[in-house]
Amino acid sequence: MRDVLIIGSGPSGWTAAIYTARAGLHPTLIASSVETGGELMKTTTVENFPGFLEGVQGPDLMAILQQQAERFGTEVIYDDAVELDLDGPVKTVRTGLGDTYTARSIILSTGSAYRRLGLPREDLLSGHGVSWCATCDGFFFTDKVVAVVGGGDSAMEEATFLTRFAKQVYVIHRRDSLRASQIMQKRAQDDPKITFVWNSTVSALLGTDQLSGVELTDTVTGEQRQLDLDGLFVAIGNDPRTELVKDQVALEDNGCIRVEGRSSRTSIPGVFAAGDVIDPTYRQAITAAGSGCVAALDAQSYLISHAVPADPAVAAQS
Ligand code: NAP
Repeated sequence: MRDVLIIGSGPSGWTAAIYTARAGLHPTLIASSVETGGELMKTTTVENFPGFLEGVQGPDLMAILQQQAERFGTEVIYDDAVELDLDGPVKTVRTGLGDTYTARSIILSTGSAYRRLGLPREDLLSGHGVSWCATCDGFFFTDKVVAVVGGGDSAMEEATFLTRFAKQVYVIHRRDSLRASQIMQKRAQDDPKITFVWNSTVSALLGTDQLSGVELTDTVTGEQRQLDLDGLFVAIGNDPRTELVKDQVALEDNGCIRVEGRSSRTSIPGVFAAGDVIDPTYRQAITAAGSGCVAALDAQSYLISHAVPADPAVAAQS
């Protein structure tokens, strides 16, 4: 049985691994069968992670964190956790490949997932003009016309990135002011390739097998119109990924895993949570990393105070 199992390979997971590994707890981190690194694998330059004067590419940052965690002995499992049993002193994780792992403590760092528009055929058109990742798919829209939905930092980042390829980029936002940080708003607004479509929601996706445009509804007048597009990038935020544990640990009304105060302690002893899965507000790589550190320290204290009693037979001989 292991001391610590960490589920999720974003900044919080790797940081929890670095700290627990350096504490001699030999953590095992269940990454993913598809892609390690979480949402930062889909971002470009990260300019606000302290310590990188010139910025760092999201995937490079994740590779560095993984190397740092492995340097101290973290075991990485490239598989998906599909079933968890968190009650009692022994926690069990079953994986997609059919393996079972047990541990005395668990750190949940499963992050968050892209929010969908909730429109008919959204999934069908995914990969056929509809995308959630400009870094992954932007290249396919060279000299094309695309739109980004959303008014936050993600939407500004996606739009600005897409100007490298697309000949025109619309930003469709449901209000007339942006939620994004000033610097990212300005960067997008100063870009001659970007046009803002204010007070508008996407009310339908057009095109049968391939997106050909969207129907827009004016949120003030209710008027509808069509916008011809080759691509639509959805950047309307994320939801915490709690599918695995939502019936076992207490959640907040906003869907995040509930933790006690500033700690990472969930409603189940020995189960800790960190990163975007507990954070509806800050959701930065650096806050996730800090949160992973908190979870590691909490897990460490828990393991000390719940030390496995010595085998009485062995104790009697010594
Ligand atoms: P966000 O800040 O929650 O913004 C989501 C945007 O989508 C909002 O403008 C929201 O509109 C809009 N929206 C939500 N649901 C919608 C719907 N159903 N239809 C149409 N529009 C909808 O999410 P985010 O941009 O992904 O950013 C999340 C966090 O990550 C933030 O803290 C952000 O600062 C951070 N982030 C940082 C960077 C960076 O620093 N490089 C990059 C990306 C993200 P309203 O404004 O009307 O609510």
